[in-house]
Amino acid sequence: MLAGKKALLLDMNGTFMFGEDRFGSSEDFSVHYSRIGGKLAPAKVNGLVRGIYEYLDARYIDEQYRHTFPSVEHALSSTSDETFDDDEIQRIVDTFAYHELGSIPEAHAHALHTLKQRFVLGAVIDIWAPKAAWIDAFRQSGIDELFEAMSFSSDHGMVKPSPKPFEHVLDTLNLLNTQAVVIGDSPRRDLGGAKNAGIDCILVGGAKHQDAFGAFSSLLEFSEQMAV
Ligand SMILES: [Mg+2]
Repeated sequence: MLAGKKALLLDMNGTFMFGEDRFGSSEDFSVHYSRIGGKLAPAKVNGLVRGIYEYLDARYIDEQYRHTFPSVEHALSSTSDETFDDDEIQRIVDTFAYHELGSIPEAHAHALHTLKQRFVLGAVIDIWAPKAAWIDAFRQSGIDELFEAMSFSSDHGMVKPSPKPFEHVLDTLNLLNTQAVVIGDSPRRDLGGAKNAGIDCILVGGAKHQDAFGAFSSLLEFSEQMAV
C-alpha cells in the first residue's frame, strides 16, 4: 500500500507515547517540584502550574497562535504577577515538563525499529515544554537514533495542523510531499496538517476519516502489516 513512499513522519502522543498531559484536578505538581529542590508552598506551585496549563490549553485550539504558540516560560510570566529568578523559573518549567511527558511502551519502541528497516523516519511533535525531557525519554527507550529529522513545536512555536512543521521535516529529509506519509492519531492535528502540506496520512489509534490514506488500530498493527 505504500509503494513509492520513502519516509514516515510520525506524531508522538497517542502514536508511540502514552499517558501524557497529567494536568487533571487531582494532580499534585508540588511533589515533583519539591523533589527537584523547590521551596515555594505546594498550593502556590499548584496554582502556578495550573495557570500555565490553562493559558496554553486555551491557545492550543486557537488558530491565531498556530505559528506563534507561546512557551511555558511565557505562560508563567503572563499568568503570574510575581517575578522569579532563573532557577525558580527552571524548576517550574521542569515540573510542567514532568507532567506533560508520557512514556514509550517497549512494543512501540520495537515497532519503530521495525519500521526503520523499511522507511526513513521523521517526527512532527507538538509539545508545550522545552524538548529536553523528551530527548532524554527517547534515549532511554533506545529510539533517539531512529529519526533523521524532528520538529518539536516548542523549538519554533509552530503547531499542527499548520503545514509548516511537516514541510520543515520534509525539507530536512530532502524529500517531496508525495514521498512521505504522516502517521498520527489525530484527525484534526495530524490528518489536517498533513493535508495542508499535501502529504498522505494514515491514522492509528482508532480514529477514522474519509480523507485518511488508511487506518490501523495502533502503530503496532501498522508495523506488523508493513513487515509482512
Ligand atoms: Mg497525537
